[in-house]
Amino acid sequence: MTLAQIVQQSDRILFFGGAGVSTESGIPDFRSQDGLYQMKYAYPPETILSSDFFYAHTQEFYKFYREKMLALTAKPNAAHYKLAQWEEAGKLSAVVTQNIDGLHQRAGSKRVYELHGSVHRNYCLSCGRAYSAEDIAKGEGVPRCSCGGLVKPDVVLYGEPLSEPVVCGAIEAIARADTLIVAGTSLTVYPAAAFLDYFRGKHLVLINRDPTPLDGKCELVLRGKVGEILSEL
Ligand code: NAD
Repeated sequence: MTLAQIVQQSDRILFFGGAGVSTESGIPDFRSQDGLYQMKYAYPPETILSSDFFYAHTQEFYKFYREKMLALTAKPNAAHYKLAQWEEAGKLSAVVTQNIDGLHQRAGSKRVYELHGSVHRNYCLSCGRAYSAEDIAKGEGVPRCSCGGLVKPDVVLYGEPLSEPVVCGAIEAIARADTLIVAGTSLTVYPAAAFLDYFRGKHLVLINRDPTPLDGKCELVLRGKVGEILSEL
């Protein structure tokens, strides 16, 4: 069966995506040839984006975070828009994303489970006051609240637990889906990758530029760019 036929027959598609969904919007992923791992930093991205590093080297964390993770000028691409259209048309039940860029919502998606949080929410660790991504972007050095407290992005850093309600919602949506489309992810970040085991539906499809550990289990593997592939449907 082709992807077009699978989509036509489905009415509870669950889309599970990663950083590769946003590379066509100009945001680098981690593990592609032009990904963040290939760029030269004093530490690997997963070290900088860890909880320990955040508290020990807050200034350095924010330098990397502002340069590489905020990406506030990025716009949704064809993949984000197609998924929003499918949701509107009653074909797609939800998006589960490992991304923190908020591009699914900007494209119009409503049911989005952000497993790793979002750059668009930031909170003072002392008083809880909320700050926007723009507030973080325009400042310099370590962002401080008006109360003097340290402001932290609502992003799940390596070493931190995932939000329980988000995980429960994502797992339930995966378990109820009739079709699961996995795209733009190396499936090496846990526990997120393990949530796919809850899928009990009919069609498992993978769209990714490079091979993944899931390839052998899929009904259909499409090797290419997710935005290009979805825009052809
Ligand atoms: P990853 O970098 O480990 O893997 C990305 C995968 O996507 C690779 O296998 C690559 O071949 C594929 N890919 C890249 N561009 C593609 C495209 N246009 N079409 C199809 N496939 C494409 O990413 P991951 O598995 O998501 O894990 C990295 C972690 O870092 C995640 O938690 C992720 O959310 C986070 N991260 C997020 C962003 C973001 O929010 N945009 C950016 C970088 C990293």
